[in-house]
Amino acid sequence: MRISVDRATCEGLGMCESMAPDFFEVDDDDTVEILNETPDAADRDQVHSAVESCPVLALTLHE
Ligand code: SF4
Repeated sequence: MRISVDRATCEGLGMCESMAPDFFEVDDDDTVEILNETPDAADRDQVHSAVESCPVLALTLHE
């Protein structure tokens, strides 16, 4: 399982960070930083919800 982000699409809205702060952090330049690109299976539901929460669909979870 791996998370990827389309930085050109991300608008720094922070939904992902609020739902899974161990995996996403919005930088000062309003672009998300992925803190851990390869989450454990135990964290899948939390990460999946965060990915789904992105209003501009900048995040993808590769299974
Ligand atoms: S929710 Fe989407 S737009 Fe907002 S910071 Fe995360 S990736 Fe970027």
